[in-house]
Amino acid sequence: MTFRNLKLIEPLLEAVAKQGYTAPTPIQEQAIPHILQGKDLIGIAQTGTGKTAAFVLPLLQLMSQSPRRTIPKSPRTLVLAPTRELAAQIDESFATYGSFMRFRHTVMFGGVSQVHQVRAMSEGVDVLVATPGRLLDLMNQGYVNLNHLEFLVLDEVDRMLDMGFIVDVKRIISKLPTHRQSIFLSATMPHSISELANTLLRHPVRVEVAPQATTVKLVQQKVLFVDERNKTAILLELLRHEDLRCVLIFTRTKRRANSVAEVLTARGIRAEAIHGNKSQGQRTRALENFKSGHARVLVATDIAARGIDIDDISHVMNYDLPVDQVDYYVHRIGRTARAGAKGTAYSLCASHERDALREIESLIRMHIEVMSHSFHSNTARDAVGAAARPPPKQQRGQRRSNENRQNRRQYRSR
Ligand code: AMP
Repeated sequence: MTFRNLKLIEPLLEAVAKQGYTAPTPIQEQAIPHILQGKDLIGIAQTGTGKTAAFVLPLLQLMSQSPRRTIPKSPRTLVLAPTRELAAQIDESFATYGSFMRFRHTVMFGGVSQVHQVRAMSEGVDVLVATPGRLLDLMNQGYVNLNHLEFLVLDEVDRMLDMGFIVDVKRIISKLPTHRQSIFLSATMPHSISELANTLLRHPVRVEVAPQATTVKLVQQKVLFVDERNKTAILLELLRHEDLRCVLIFTRTKRRANSVAEVLTARGIRAEAIHGNKSQGQRTRALENFKSGHARVLVATDIAARGIDIDDISHVMNYDLPVDQVDYYVHRIGRTARAGAKGTAYSLCASHERDALREIESLIRMHIEVMSHSFHSNTARDAVGAAARPPPKQQRGQRRSNENRQNRRQYRSR
């Protein structure tokens, strides 16, 4: 199968060739013909499957086949995404795949000034990619009018629901013309999501690729049973191996993400942290450092990591298991072993995380290989020195006040 077989037009074929894509991915092969025929579509596909191009390419083609002048405030296509990173990446994809066409597009998300977004809308765009909260805000202020919308895409719907956007999404959809083509993408399709899809779509075609178990099988997974206190020591030991080249580490909280990144940096391992308390500028810089290889490690919380699109992650490390939401495990490890590459995921499992591990194993229907390690309290503490060692009694007060000073400094600099 080639992109030409999918009946894509020349400017799009040129754009995919420029990206070096030789063949469509399974989701592209399945979804593009239906979308080109004007059908509503439900796609069950995860990040890394090529799902973005699966809707961006045919939508660009459909828009070019029924030209319409750009109307201020009134986009033809709206893509809703759960996070700013994902929204920015989708917007970039419109730029990339539409580079030989003349479409105007913009991205809109919260946490930054609305000035540029308002200006872009008043000049007019064909494609608007947005997170729900900011879009609703600008709609309420009268800067966006969706009366003339023709195409709607809801991307990563399961994440949107997890993040509590359902009310905003429904409000936005209530303002759309009923005559439109809609595309609905989600990595998982529990009952609540298929119900929502049924209310929003007309006779949708359903396409599904890479069921979770298949993706999971591509990743070599290992679990290390550890003492909670030794996690940092074990992490440092694992990072001694050079093949851990580009490592994404997940922690349970923002605070833990910061402290892991700080310990690694103090040990000479370049690390960045991204989480919800970082400004957009800080997140972008951290991601750029990681993508360029300047930082070897990125430490993230689940929310912050959503939508991060980095192909080359060699290892995913679960510093903490996702105890409250075990299906995040699948999303996390799916960040590695992308586009046919090899990937490894290590999970550090402390005693309080054993139940979660059992749930994960039943979810993926696999036993995760146990990796032994030599860290038993003393060796571990020796290996990491100050990082994991409880402070000696007489220095404890001093250390606490240093930490407080540092925390205050960080807080001010946010
Ligand atoms: P996505 O699932 O949309 O996040 O895409 C994952 C990655 O796959 C992105 O980096 C795309 O650039 C890349 N990609 C998309 N389509 C293809 C293709 N047909 N061949 C090779 N890579 C692709």
